[in-house]
Amino acid sequence: MIALPASARVVIIGGGISGCSVAYHLARLGWRDIVLLERQKLTSGTTWHAAGLVGQLRASLNMTRLAKYSADLYARLGDVTGLATGFRACGSISVALSNERRVELLRQAGLARAFGVEVAELSLAEIKAMYPHLNTEGVTMGVHLPADGQADPGNIALALAKGARAKGALIAEGVKVASVTQAAGRVTGVTWVQGEAQGHIAADLVVNAAGMWGRDLAAASSVALPLHACEHFYIVTEPIAGLERLPVLRVPDECAYYKEDAGKILLGAFEPKAKPWGMQGIPESFCFDQLPEDFDHFEPILAAAVNRMPMLASAGIHTFFNGPESFTPDDRYYLGEAPELGGYWVAAGYNSIGIVSSGGAGMALAAWMDSGEPPFDLWDVDIRRAQPFQKNRRYLRERVSETLGLLYADHFPCRQPATARGIRRSPVHEHLKAAGAVFGETAGWERANWFAAAGEVPEYRYSWGRQNWFENSAAEHRALRQGVGLIDMSSFGKIRVEGPGALAFLERVAAAQIDVDNGRIVYCQMLNARGGIESDLTITRLSETAFLLVVPAATLQRDLAWLRRNLGGDLATITDVTAAEAVLCLMGPRAREVLAACSPADLSNTAHGFGTAREIEVGMGLARAHRISYVGELGWELYVSTDQAAHVFEALTEAGTAAGLRLCGLHAMNSCRMEKAYRSFGHDITDEDHVLEAGLGFAVATDKGGFIGREAVLRKREAGLTRHLVQFLLSDPEPMLYHNEPILRDGRIVGVLASGAYGHSLGGSVGLGYVPCTHAGESGAEMLAARYEIEVAGQRIAARASLAPLYDPKSERPRA
Ligand SMILES: Cc1cc2nc3c(=O)[nH]c(=O)nc-3n(C[C@H](O)[C@H](O)[C@H](O)COP(=O)(O)OP(=O)(O)OC[C@H]3O[C@@H](n4cnc5c(N)ncnc54)[C@H](O)[C@@H]3O)c2cc1C
Repeated sequence: MIALPASARVVIIGGGISGCSVAYHLARLGWRDIVLLERQKLTSGTTWHAAGLVGQLRASLNMTRLAKYSADLYARLGDVTGLATGFRACGSISVALSNERRVELLRQAGLARAFGVEVAELSLAEIKAMYPHLNTEGVTMGVHLPADGQADPGNIALALAKGARAKGALIAEGVKVASVTQAAGRVTGVTWVQGEAQGHIAADLVVNAAGMWGRDLAAASSVALPLHACEHFYIVTEPIAGLERLPVLRVPDECAYYKEDAGKILLGAFEPKAKPWGMQGIPESFCFDQLPEDFDHFEPILAAAVNRMPMLASAGIHTFFNGPESFTPDDRYYLGEAPELGGYWVAAGYNSIGIVSSGGAGMALAAWMDSGEPPFDLWDVDIRRAQPFQKNRRYLRERVSETLGLLYADHFPCRQPATARGIRRSPVHEHLKAAGAVFGETAGWERANWFAAAGEVPEYRYSWGRQNWFENSAAEHRALRQGVGLIDMSSFGKIRVEGPGALAFLERVAAAQIDVDNGRIVYCQMLNARGGIESDLTITRLSETAFLLVVPAATLQRDLAWLRRNLGGDLATITDVTAAEAVLCLMGPRAREVLAACSPADLSNTAHGFGTAREIEVGMGLARAHRISYVGELGWELYVSTDQAAHVFEALTEAGTAAGLRLCGLHAMNSCRMEKAYRSFGHDITDEDHVLEAGLGFAVATDKGGFIGREAVLRKREAGLTRHLVQFLLSDPEPMLYHNEPILRDGRIVGVLASGAYGHSLGGSVGLGYVPCTHAGESGAEMLAARYEIEVAGQRIAARASLAPLYDPKSERPRA
């Protein structure tokens, strides 16, 4: 029996690599009274059986930064703690078997260079020289990352635990957390069971690092931690005589990776249809367990592997391994404080990259817990992106059967999940579907991304070039720019803030002036104390004491959490009313004509000016018409009670026949917003991006009095900007920009694009990305005087740079 304290500063639940890393990093920050409780033995969940690949290149700058941190940490952890991690920088090679994969690898290599990760493109001869056992038939190219490595996962976790203990953390094995206790919306501690004994540790903070047990543990506290275990397979051969040291090899087109270890080959699989596991819960007794072999399931991977690596044909199989691992609906893990419960932190759901991720994730989470702010933008993995419904087990089971394989599938732009769809639908979903809508999914919402014409198959055909919807979306774009289009944006998050203290509260959390006339719409940001952007939204004043906040679908939970966290003593209620209203956006120069044909309202500029909202009649129903635009044209966002949405939709489409009204999707909207350089949260603006450097100073009212982030804005004004968000237009109309393409200033990589799309009116791909100043306070004019290129799959393309929007720079069109 281990004596446990009655109280602690933090209780970490789970002694896998994730929990051990959080304990290690909190201890290194000088935290005292850290307790880590592990129900069985350290590493006995998933960690002990990982293959131990440490690949550094991830999908975004900050995820790569975390993976790189892990690799550096594991390389030196043995010296720091006296326990070797087995880390070896053996390098890794990824090979392409198709032209599309070749483009993906070339794009990834560009990204690696921009992130400072050493990388080289390999010819077939070079691949063969580095990996002589590979059958290069069908291989189109490869990339080499020399600093990638492999390590012993169990030893990394044990070394982290040892390092944490050395700094005073208490790590107790054989102690299960039975529940997390709470009062008044905050964690108060945990109850534990140790053999026959049980007790309580009072703590302000807990960290759920319970791996595949984490979902049910969180659900017991009404916290959504949407993850589900899947079976995950590899085999290890018998020793192969004379096998030399080899880099890790990935052949994603055959769903396979190969690791040489002690003269054997480990062959692992990311098969397209995975097997969810643990549907009845994870067995209580699970400890260093394996799951039953399933040779039939593994066989297709092995068959391709024997062809790819002929020496495997004669190598005996020593181990067939099947172990469970947690997967999430979007293949990204979860970090941060759960929005539902103060003091409830999570670090779980690693999608088979928990070894390479946990070093950095533990560091980032510890820094976040220590300062209250993430050390840099972690939105990719922020727990606040999880939707409450996603803890539904049937949903998870269906989705994770796909997400495991997606890790090695082509990561095509706009790729949509094929499973577990249709959970959240707009009231006009069936109308859109009947009109040929092809849907994408965001936060569980089905959203029409583009419309297939009559006779066309309404489905995506993905590629890195122009996809099959390019022309359809171009026509929708033209309707929005030259005629009139209707976009269903019912997925917008909608929050009502009401009460006698609502105005004072919003004035404090929003950077713009909120004390405006009833009916005014204010575009604004909520800032953190560093001047970084926490939220990008519009606030409409509905009355003296009631406001409607409209936010992107993907950020609703985050925005609600930020508002609730900062409410303090202000007398206001915060209510999610997303499902109460549909939003139909009627946009384009002929929008007034169409609306006038189905509404008696005076729609003139005098009666209904830009930036105002008022109730109008549409057909036989009612709508609150917001005169605002995310596409940069004359238009109204019509907020309609969900019961009347179908009627209003029908009234609009009927009234629009004469003007050639076209249903438009989100791809067309995105194309228009990129031309206008309207920012998109999570891409161009994040909590790491200062509002002034994002070019949004016009929406900040420092003279209105105190608000969160005001001092940081004043400081930045004083000190000068260190970078600018710049809009780029490629000189060549062919190449496609998506995001993450390197930006070159005078021939040198200075950053990557935060977002990209084809601008059909500008006649080329448009991107937005930050360019650092060469010296403090470098002016915009100086910056624009440089020569810019954007790298697309290894090709450098000249680009025009601008700080003012390239389309309608004076924003005259929406006010027309
Ligand atoms: C076959 C396979 C190969 C893999 N290969 C790689 C690889 O090459 N590279 C890579 O980066 N990743 C790899 N992974 C993924 C990696 O192993 C996991 O992502 C990682 O181990 C997850 O660590 P964790 O700490 O989140 O979970 P776990 O290791 O499962 O730890 C969670 C711990 O919490 C404990 N716990 C649960 N509930 C409670 C409770 N109520 N009270 C107390 N304790 C509790 C459990 O006992 C467990 O020990 C692989 C996974 C598999 C299955």
